Amino acid sequence: MPVMTDSSAETRIKISIDLDQPGRQIGDLQIKWSDNQRPLGYYPVPVACIAGGSGPTVLLSAGVHGDEFEGPAALMRLLQDLSPAEINGRIIILPALNTPAVLASSRVSPLDQVNMNRAFPGDANGGPTHMLAHFIETCLLPECDAAIDLHSGGKAAVFAPCVLTQADMQADTQTDIGKRNMALADAFGAPFIWLSGKNNDNRSVNAAAARQGVSMVAAELGGGGGCDGLMTDFAERAVRRCLQHLGILSVTVEAEAAASRLVEFSASGHNLAAPASGLFDRQFGLGDEVQVGDSAGYLHFVDEPSRASMELKFAASGIVLAQGNRGLVERGDSLAMIAQPVARAR
Ligand SMILES: [Zn+2]
Repeated sequence: MPVMTDSSAETRIKISIDLDQPGRQIGDLQIKWSDNQRPLGYYPVPVACIAGGSGPTVLLSAGVHGDEFEGPAALMRLLQDLSPAEINGRIIILPALNTPAVLASSRVSPLDQVNMNRAFPGDANGGPTHMLAHFIETCLLPECDAAIDLHSGGKAAVFAPCVLTQADMQADTQTDIGKRNMALADAFGAPFIWLSGKNNDNRSVNAAAARQGVSMVAAELGGGGGCDGLMTDFAERAVRRCLQHLGILSVTVEAEAAASRLVEFSASGHNLAAPASGLFDRQFGLGDEVQVGDSAGYLHFVDEPSRASMELKFAASGIVLAQGNRGLVERGDSLAMIAQPVARAR
């Protein structure tokens, strides 16, 4: 039987702080999920609220995927550095949104094996990740004017620093939300802006924000499963620039050297996947501009040295926005994501 979901059901998640109070509060979202590990009690999801003045509300989140650490590091810095006195508005911070996944260094939650960015709009009566997604979409996002969600490539991939927004240069940038999304993406100041257009998965945080009319960007900040300090520095500056853009912070943060280049994925077939299992000897780097037919590298069959290595070629021209982070790959693994440049609307 299919599982029935009801997005109008009331949340089962409790929040230990009062988001309507000014000042600085740190507490938990409390997921009541009774299992063998914790039959009573709750699974905590740390939340901070820093509020002062009458400006807009922004939601800052990271750790939707638990093996992506630069975003959580940047938000931990901001959570501790920002004070209510310097803020005009309200900043709600979830530095490790899918906390059970972050504590396990795992892309999916160890409680239910669910990828949180495929769990929206969630379910008040579902498993823990769906309960949390439901709370974010129905209780937190409606309180917000803007949202920023920090990601990276995790253990499996590395991204050129980019900011993703649900906009289409031909259509959405003419609408109010499209214009606000583009302005927020420009304020972030990453080398690339990835326009997700109509291809965005409707189970993601971005899609939830779009349904709630909340301006939103998500960022991809490197990856590999570690925590790159330079990338964390960049993420902290980028979020501060967005807070300044939204009128919440008045301190000026310097712009990055170059304006962001717009890219989109015009077809998923433009990505390079491993046609066989083997050792991938990569011959390209992040941000490279590649042409159809260019060599991408070689698959070596290390357990069959007499078998000729296989040369892999790009099936599309474009910019390498992400690459796989594994040496040994299996058939079907992603080796490269090739995005196409988009001209800015006049
Ligand atoms: Zn992610």
